[in-house]
Amino acid sequence: MTTDPIDISTHIRDIPDFPSPGIVFKDITPLLGHPVAFRSAIDQLAAPFEDASVTKVLGTEARGFILAAPVADRYGAGFVPVRKAGKLPWEIERQEYELEYGTDLLEIHRDAILPGERVLIVDDVLATGGTAGATARLVEKLGGEVAGFAFLIELAFLPGREQLGDHHITSVITYAGE
Ligand code: AMP
Repeated sequence: MTTDPIDISTHIRDIPDFPSPGIVFKDITPLLGHPVAFRSAIDQLAAPFEDASVTKVLGTEARGFILAAPVADRYGAGFVPVRKAGKLPWEIERQEYELEYGTDLLEIHRDAILPGERVLIVDDVLATGGTAGATARLVEKLGGEVAGFAFLIELAFLPGREQLGDHHITSVITYAGE
């Protein structure tokens, strides 16, 4: 069962200066805790790629897991976790990406995506695009095809979209300014 789209922005809380000064953190926990808003958010994330022949939906630790898994279920697709370094127990592929200060690593199991599979990447927030870009490279290293990106929130005042090249990118809510 799907619900009528609702304005999910009313269920997202701005937390100024978290986790560090100058960052306005988009807290989605009120949305996750509201049954109607949560279901509508999943509907709105999933709708643009319903006919995209997606066989795997990939979520990035940790909030990406919460959104990607129900989207995968809607399509009858598999769910794939991408995790921070050292968390996955089996053979991994890894990708470094740039942070504001320094670099970080994301990892995926080598057998998580088969060559030629169509993969949708889901996350809560598109900010600088570093996380999503590294995730796409992991998919490509395993021979998968990135069908697109579905974000709940896009911070359009940051250059995330430009980082992701020509891929199909959708977001449920776009914030033009902080
Ligand atoms: P980025 O790699 O800069 O696009 O950042 C995306 C990742 O960081 C996502 O996985 C988000 O969960 C998190 N993130 C970045 N900015 C914010 C923000 N303002 N509020 C909440 N989460 C954020």
